[in-house]
Amino acid sequence: MLTRFLVFALLQLAAGALGGWLAGWPGALAGAAGGGLVWFALDLTRGLRLIAWLRQADMAAAPEMRGLWGEAADRMRRLLRGHDQRVKESQHRLQEFLAAIQASPNGVVLLDAEGRIEWCNQIAAEHLGFDAQRDLLQHIGNLVREPAFAAYYAGRDYQHDVTIQGRAHSAARPVKLSVQLHPYGDGRKLLLTRDVTALAQAEAMRRDFVANVSHEIRTPLTVLSGFVETLQTLPLDEPERERYLQLMAAQAARMQNLVNDLLMLSRLEGSPPPGAAEWLPVAPLTAQCEEEARGLSAVLLAPQAPAQVLSFDAPRQLSLAGSAHELRSAVSNLINNAVRYTPAGGHIDVAWRLLPDGRLEFSVTDTGPGIAPEHLGRLSERFYRVDRSRSRESGGTGLGLAIAKHVAQRHGGELRIESQLGKGSRFTLLFPANRVRVEAPELMVASAGAG
Ligand code: ADP
Repeated sequence: MLTRFLVFALLQLAAGALGGWLAGWPGALAGAAGGGLVWFALDLTRGLRLIAWLRQADMAAAPEMRGLWGEAADRMRRLLRGHDQRVKESQHRLQEFLAAIQASPNGVVLLDAEGRIEWCNQIAAEHLGFDAQRDLLQHIGNLVREPAFAAYYAGRDYQHDVTIQGRAHSAARPVKLSVQLHPYGDGRKLLLTRDVTALAQAEAMRRDFVANVSHEIRTPLTVLSGFVETLQTLPLDEPERERYLQLMAAQAARMQNLVNDLLMLSRLEGSPPPGAAEWLPVAPLTAQCEEEARGLSAVLLAPQAPAQVLSFDAPRQLSLAGSAHELRSAVSNLINNAVRYTPAGGHIDVAWRLLPDGRLEFSVTDTGPGIAPEHLGRLSERFYRVDRSRSRESGGTGLGLAIAKHVAQRHGGELRIESQLGKGSRFTLLFPANRVRVEAPELMVASAGAG
């Protein structure tokens, strides 16, 4: 500042002295005034250069100046650079923030005070059928036309969500969305969407399951309490009493079977898959099931009816890794089903076979009534039955195939069903090679080749 004043004073003095030397006192005054004008013109030029630079705001083109104007330019340049840096950082943060919302598994839509879309992530666009770019500033009510949503939006009570159909909804593939609005700021709203299809399906399955279980238990319970009432009110002779007690025992056994199967299913669902530490030789397992099946066959068939022909083939060399309890349950369910559904005189073949690729196949083939193709896909659903009365008469719970399928899957395998109406059925459990052990492989390969 002092230098600037000194330079200004020196210029005035020099110009005044020059004027005075040339034309005396009037010349000195004119010289001083001229010096002031020159100073003003120089100052104005530098100021204008600075303004011109600021107008174009190109920091790289900052004028090179010294003194007061140079310092002003320098400070402005630093201010602008700091400001630019902050804007860049904010933009970077905003991009990261938007990328995080994009990565969210839920849909996010930002609505302005008029309900127009300001921004939405890709998931919201897919859920609601928007185009994330084209539909910006469209009113949400014009794009989501479901009456349930329109009523929810107009109701202004956003404490709870509303469930609507997703844009991709169809009868074959239902899509359910949970949509909730969250007001914020100055009348703005955040709209969140969540795909709840699986949740809704699980809830429907749970409801069906509870209804089915209640129904299955209520039927034998009603019969049982009817018999109890009869025994309490009617004077019955001994043979009649005996018959009633037998019928009651059968109903109690039916309920017990159901509870056992339900417990088995809940254990299968609630426990980790069985490891491969326990090896189960298939021959003794099959022998146990054979005994059970022959007993069941004798009980179910009328005394004069021709017996069922049961054949069992379980090579001694084969062992399977997994849970003995689960595998026995799956295998006996398939064998017992064949016994229960195959009429008198029919054939049932039970076999274990090592496949050339090392997998192990357990199959039960019968000459029973067979199953129409439309039922095949649903047979392993819980409580799905083709012939309800046949299933109940023979002590079925409707859960046997669901258990067998679950067990197979928990052992890394699968349940396959092939059937021809009127000809018979073949139920197969396939186990992966890493769960199969063969004591004398050369014998098995020969038998696999023969099979
Ligand atoms: P259930 O206790 O009723 O037998 P499952 O789950 O074991 O229940 O079987 C489901 C349905 O599959 C049965 O109700 C029956 O209609 C059909 N099914 C199962 N095994 C056979 C078979 N070997 N032959 C014919 N139908 C069968």
